[in-house]
Amino acid sequence: MHLNEMLMIKARKDPDSLLKLLVITAVVSFFVVVMVSGYSFYRAFSGFVIKNAENNSVQLCKVLIEQQKELMFVYVPGKGMELGLHGTEMLVFDLSLRRYLAPFDIFKVKVYNQNKKIVFSTDPMLIGKVDENNQRLKIALSGVVSAKMVYKELARDLDDEPLPDVDVVETYVPIMSPDNRVIGSFEVYMNITQYRTMIRQGVLLMTSLLTLALVGVFGFSYLLVRGGTAQLKEAQAKLEQIATTDGLTEIANRGYLVARGDEEFERIKRNRIRSERPADMGCIMLDIDHFKNVNDTYGHHAGDVVLKEVARRLSVSVRPYDVIGRYGGEEFVVLLPDTNFAQSLIVAERIREKIRTEPITAEGKQLIITASLGVAGSDETDSCLADIIKRADEGMYKAKKGGRDRVAWIDQPEAG
Ligand code: GH3
Ligand code: MG
Ligand code: MG
Repeated sequence: MHLNEMLMIKARKDPDSLLKLLVITAVVSFFVVVMVSGYSFYRAFSGFVIKNAENNSVQLCKVLIEQQKELMFVYVPGKGMELGLHGTEMLVFDLSLRRYLAPFDIFKVKVYNQNKKIVFSTDPMLIGKVDENNQRLKIALSGVVSAKMVYKELARDLDDEPLPDVDVVETYVPIMSPDNRVIGSFEVYMNITQYRTMIRQGVLLMTSLLTLALVGVFGFSYLLVRGGTAQLKEAQAKLEQIATTDGLTEIANRGYLVARGDEEFERIKRNRIRSERPADMGCIMLDIDHFKNVNDTYGHHAGDVVLKEVARRLSVSVRPYDVIGRYGGEEFVVLLPDTNFAQSLIVAERIREKIRTEPITAEGKQLIITASLGVAGSDETDSCLADIIKRADEGMYKAKKGGRDRVAWIDQPEAG
């Protein structure tokens, strides 16, 4: 299997990746939800303020028309009622208008006729101007009220005093003649800056509440998933241990030993293609001598004790990255990466000594145990791990034939 594929499978199997996925999803959706809802709350709150300002402006214009119709309208023969407001009428209108505006936060009012010409304004400089391209005015002149909030860095109030940094609702209110024709439009500017803090605080409060709820929900699910993940990891580790370890001796089982050996063999094969001096691998096959006798004489339990002790002595005789495994009943295999045949022989001899010199205590008896060991080194002609193991096995049988309690090997060119 390719290394990349192995890494990918490993990542997919890692229960922590589930937790990572949850955290990433939570953080992303958290930001999206907070941003979207923050904006929505802002729209809702400011929409409410704009609607209020619009209603007030419409109400004001209604009252104005009702009270000032003599000043505002003039009868033009052949045309009907038109907007008046000329000369002194305008001054009188202006004076009474300002009285109406006093209780509201209105700082400017304009009156357009149906030709988009400003016929009155609280700012006299604007009177007489024509606002040809004003889309919202066009809509108003078709009879529809429209209100919009705009920010102004600097406006001027009714007394021409500066009004810096204001939020303004501009409302167009169509002016209807007594015979129900649109003959012009008001434009009312209402200062709603005082609600700015209220809107901001409202948005902040609602978004904070939502954030709190989200943190609660995500936090809770995080804890749940983390708990589940820990259990899953524990179960996975246990399963892996069961699948790879021999239950009695607690060293690698045959399947895991062969899998590790295959990996090592593939590495050697790659190195052989790439480098001048390829890495070697040694293999030792060990079989306990007359083990049946131990079972028969001292019982199966004593046999188990011996197997465990032999496995322990094997473990302490090799390097941490050597692989030892229980290959069969009382057969063990040791794989020695980066070790040539001659070095493997030395290791095998050391193992043989380690097993035979100190008696093993089982069922209160001191048992002298010996083993026969076969040694093989990796060879260019090997096509798979089994080839090396087979030679080590043949070496082991040679040791048995030669009288047991010894190390043997079959034709190894490197052995000299
Ligand atoms: P030799 O020197 O030729 O290897 O003789 P031997 O008696 O060791 O060989 P044999 O293969 O005849 O005996 C192996 C015995 O190992 C047979 C079996 O009952 C025993 N055995 C296999 N697995 C276990 C185990 O897990 N526990 C115990 N107690 N005995 C086991
Ligand atoms: Mg055997
Ligand atoms: Mg045996």
